[in-house]
Amino acid sequence: MIENFHPANIISLASTGAYSRPMQPAMLILASVLAMSGIIAVRYLLSSGGFALATRLTRPGLYAGMRRQIGGEIRWSLLSALIFGLPAGLVAWGWQNHGWTQIYTDLDAWPLWYLPVSVLLYLAAHDTWFYWTHRLMHRPALFRVAHAVHHASRPPTAWAAMSFHPWEAITGAVVIPALVFLIPIHVAALGVVLTVMTVMGVTNHMGWEMFPRWLVNGPAGKWLITASHHQKHHEQYRCNYGLYFRVWDRLCGTDKGLSNGFAVPASAASSPALALNGSVASAKDAAI
Ligand SMILES: [Zn+2]
Ligand SMILES: [Zn+2]
Repeated sequence: MIENFHPANIISLASTGAYSRPMQPAMLILASVLAMSGIIAVRYLLSSGGFALATRLTRPGLYAGMRRQIGGEIRWSLLSALIFGLPAGLVAWGWQNHGWTQIYTDLDAWPLWYLPVSVLLYLAAHDTWFYWTHRLMHRPALFRVAHAVHHASRPPTAWAAMSFHPWEAITGAVVIPALVFLIPIHVAALGVVLTVMTVMGVTNHMGWEMFPRWLVNGPAGKWLITASHHQKHHEQYRCNYGLYFRVWDRLCGTDKGLSNGFAVPASAASSPALALNGSVASAKDAAI
């Protein structure tokens, strides 16, 4: 056996491909994971950076004195990007190389009306997963372990979009990679889902409402989650657990409406005190 480890034998084995062939898939998966992590990190920096810049331009001083907190938000978010890349990279590799997943590229594979339906199905499924895992993470023991990092942002900024402890990041990272095995979706519709996910993740935390008052306070706003709704979660903890829709919160009696003094027109929101009334609940109030 020992002679098998002679360098000459290893070289000859390597040249026949006996070593290189089994290594190849592992290297390709690793490359796919790193590429996905990189893409997600860049997506985070561009989206959060873009809305942070918009905040600076339209509401100067809103993030004044928050450099330390923002530094933490960026570090946790970049770690989350690395974690999100793991299942995403693995599934992307399997899709490209083995035809895994129900992602399709041929527009004729499903009727056109299914495109918006598939987007809604994904958002509804993601919202359901988020509502229940989020509510669970507000139980005291789980809150301390998994969710306190996200609520350490008081109040959150545009940089807090992916500011999660690794345990919470794992619960978020598996959703879309699991759904692509279950629900058929065109690759462009998947792009729409990921865009909605990214934009809402950033804007729900940035400290001001970008949607017009008629939408936020109108009939659509009773069912859709915007910054005014999620801000209240960061103020009071034990309510408003949803991600995109208020359906679960309303069904379960956890919907406490919009943040006071937050759903105001842009012109009135230039005062940080008006736009952000900060966190009024302490960590020990976090339990459901
Ligand atoms: Zn949040
Ligand atoms: Zn929470």
